[in-house]
Amino acid sequence: MRSFFTILLVLGGTGFIGTGRLPQIQGQAPVSVIHAGFAQMDITPDTAAAKVYIAGFGSNRVATGVHDPLFARAIVLEQPGGKKIGIVSVDLVGFFHDFTLETRKLVPELDYLVICSTHNHNGPDTLGLWGPGFGRSGVDKAYVRSIQKRIPNLIKEAMGNKVPCKLVAAKASAPELLRDGRLPDIKHDDLVVLRFDDAKSGKPHGFLLQWNNHPETVDSDGTLITADFPTPALETISKSLGCKGIYLTGTVGGLMTTIGVKVKDKSGKELPLKTFETMNRLGELLGEKALVALKEAQNVPFSQLEYKSKIVHFPVENRGYQAFFKLGVFNRKAFVETTKGQFESIQPSDAGDRKFWMQSEVGWIGLGDAEFFLVPGEIYPELVLGKFQDPVEPGADFPDAPLEKSLFSMSKAKWKMTVGLANDEVGYIIPKRQWDEKAPFCYGREKSQYGEINSLGNETAPRLSEAFQELFAK
Ligand SMILES: [Zn+2]
Repeated sequence: MRSFFTILLVLGGTGFIGTGRLPQIQGQAPVSVIHAGFAQMDITPDTAAAKVYIAGFGSNRVATGVHDPLFARAIVLEQPGGKKIGIVSVDLVGFFHDFTLETRKLVPELDYLVICSTHNHNGPDTLGLWGPGFGRSGVDKAYVRSIQKRIPNLIKEAMGNKVPCKLVAAKASAPELLRDGRLPDIKHDDLVVLRFDDAKSGKPHGFLLQWNNHPETVDSDGTLITADFPTPALETISKSLGCKGIYLTGTVGGLMTTIGVKVKDKSGKELPLKTFETMNRLGELLGEKALVALKEAQNVPFSQLEYKSKIVHFPVENRGYQAFFKLGVFNRKAFVETTKGQFESIQPSDAGDRKFWMQSEVGWIGLGDAEFFLVPGEIYPELVLGKFQDPVEPGADFPDAPLEKSLFSMSKAKWKMTVGLANDEVGYIIPKRQWDEKAPFCYGREKSQYGEINSLGNETAPRLSEAFQELFAK
């Protein structure tokens, strides 16, 4: 962390930590193959060896066993003579930015490593919020370290099975597979699937599924570890294509959820909510939807593999989060602003009454017409799609706040994907006009809707949008 900060100062404090854009060569035909490799490793915690606090809902939910294993899945992309990029997606609730920065040091062979989480609500606490009681972390540091230590091998394995691939992409809308748990009812209900076909044999070599939903089907009473619907979704596709895949969680704020989504089994019988049956069926239906979409898949021509990333700071205005920092529940550094736009890390316990900030990162990966927007938390669909409620709810705290520029309006790519909880988990990223902590409340409600309590503050969304605009201006 400190070394990164030093580099930033040397660069004149621009905050850019990397850019993988290659110089455009005039008249050069688009390269049609990308080298891609896939790998996965089991990261299921041993519930018999140590107490495992399950993340996602209330505190002190102790695991009693394992329903299905958790995985870390990786894809490595390489353009010969160009950049090497790795994406690792873990079946966990989230990891902080400090974890990403530390892990990157272990894989110097990559130009850029993304660590993202599916945001699983039935896996171990890896953030600290779900321990035995308030202010007590549920993180097993040895478990977290063991995952980190094994990531270089996972990347090596993915590098080892890299082959030149042709890329095809498809998209489908699946509003029936998610529910919006917060008004206004705005969903991000598109799934995107990329298939990497071995350029020599033409056979599928691997795939990537991106979808926008909370993996929390069995809800808050479950005490068995499970990866939720992403695993059956991937298995459904894998079975048909005969290759491995990776799942990326996207726009999950606002609140995209599996809770309350009703599905039917193959015979048409409606399945009971909060069960593993429903969870598996949801995954299966998602996988089937991706397979149907792939029948209409289109080639993705591209000329180069690119990436960009940028450090961003968010003020920590949430009093609960301030306390978690100071109590050491959050295992990450705090930052103070020294001069405008310049930040320095401090121990949270030294912050006193000073305003402090969280350091995070936004990023982008471009694969021709397929693009990934790397968002360090749970972004609301409005901020991705630009579908803001109009007119604004009069009860909102900042009804006149300017609308944030939406992420997808910043690009003309055909297949745009959000990667949520990418490289960090800063909580909910709420449009400022939707912020609603003070009475009168929106929609005539007697109290505020759920969301703000798990957000750093009302400045997070404007700052995130600005950071992406700066990223693309470079
Ligand atoms: Zn969440």
